[in-house]
Amino acid sequence: MADRSFLNWPFFEERHRILADALDRWAAANLADIDHSDVDAACRELVARLGEGGWLTHSAVDPDVAVSMLDVRSLCIIRETLARHDGLADFSFAMQGLGTGAISLFGTVDQKREWLTRTRAGTALSAFALSEPKSGSDVANLDLAAREDGDSYVLDGEKTWISNGGIADMYTVFARTGEAPGAKGISAFIAPADTPGLSIAERLEVIAPHPLARLSFQNCRVPKSAMLGKPGEGFKIAMSVLDVFRSTVAAAALGFARRALDEAVSRSTSRELFGAPLSDLQMVQGHIADMALDIDASALLVYRAAWLKDSGAPRVSREAAMAKLYATDRAQSVIDKAVQIHGGDGVRKGSVVERLYREIRALRIYEGASDVQKVIIARQTLAGG
Ligand SMILES: Cc1cc2nc3c(=O)[nH]c(=O)nc-3n(C[C@H](O)[C@H](O)[C@H](O)COP(=O)(O)OP(=O)(O)OC[C@H]3O[C@@H](n4cnc5c(N)ncnc54)[C@H](O)[C@@H]3O)c2cc1C
Repeated sequence: MADRSFLNWPFFEERHRILADALDRWAAANLADIDHSDVDAACRELVARLGEGGWLTHSAVDPDVAVSMLDVRSLCIIRETLARHDGLADFSFAMQGLGTGAISLFGTVDQKREWLTRTRAGTALSAFALSEPKSGSDVANLDLAAREDGDSYVLDGEKTWISNGGIADMYTVFARTGEAPGAKGISAFIAPADTPGLSIAERLEVIAPHPLARLSFQNCRVPKSAMLGKPGEGFKIAMSVLDVFRSTVAAAALGFARRALDEAVSRSTSRELFGAPLSDLQMVQGHIADMALDIDASALLVYRAAWLKDSGAPRVSREAAMAKLYATDRAQSVIDKAVQIHGGDGVRKGSVVERLYREIRALRIYEGASDVQKVIIARQTLAGG
């Protein structure tokens, strides 16, 4: 049973403890029978179940409430809990939030009502389309063009590595409108998946399968009312969304790490070697101690960043970067140790730790690679912040 003592830390309120317990019980009862052999179908089913369970109401603001805010601690608790149970369930929840994050933060009442009502109910899936073949880390350099034409913008170009690509009902698309060079010439748009000219150019397969695609935009016309925020605000919007969701990637890594530690404890206390449980060997105890320490240190960074954002800090780039860099890196190490403790069974296809070993890797690349997080931390530290 994963350590729950962190929920008593001062970062949390009673509602967070209630949420964590209720979701843990729900996940144990509702996720075990999901068939992962077809990831598209699994994700659709997961979103539907998460919607029916009411969990997706945390993924986006309430369009019918005048002042509704995302609660980053709740997002992190949900991602951590789901990741501990099922990586694809965490992914499905996360994408409902990331894909609509720009609408939650910058959408008009009409945009919120049109999309968030459905994504919060689990009846529509969303995606966040920022990366391009020539601009992943260097997002300010993106090429996809949005040309103004009467009451519309016409999008032309490509996006790649888009999670939920192929199954999403709507894409938040960042495109160059050209008000200024670089970051100041980008705008954000809502593009429904069935918009003529928007197509799936390629489905991408990765080591931990989930829906991913390269998207093509050819003469793809969206109304001016599909723009989020103002012309030229797209880069600011993307960074604001990442400022909220980056800490939640760290929380997912924390969930994977907690599951790996649970599996390692269970294995090392049940397997007999040299006439005693594996856990009697001091080197195994050393691994267990390192894993527990890494997990607590990661949790402190994750929930500090989340609490700070919820406390009203306008930007938490440094804290979120620290949480993501550290928690994803340490989770990789924790999971590697869990694989080692499992011996041959650790690399056997289908074992829990083998799955975690594949699932953790991409978290050190997307939503800002680890090296980019270091740049953010260093810049702010050198500037005295
Ligand atoms: C599984 C998965 C899901 C994804 N989902 C989405 C999604 O839903 N939406 C979306 O828009 N994108 C998504 N991405 C794209 C992801 O954000 C990019 O892959 C990431 O930003 C890195 O870009 P790149 O792959 O082009 O690598 P590059 O930009 O070519 O970088 C390669 C490497 O160079 C190093 N590097 C880069 N910049 C610096 C720097 N400033 N200093 C030092 N070293 C540096 C890093 O080690 C980096 O990993 C996803 C990617 C993956 C793998």
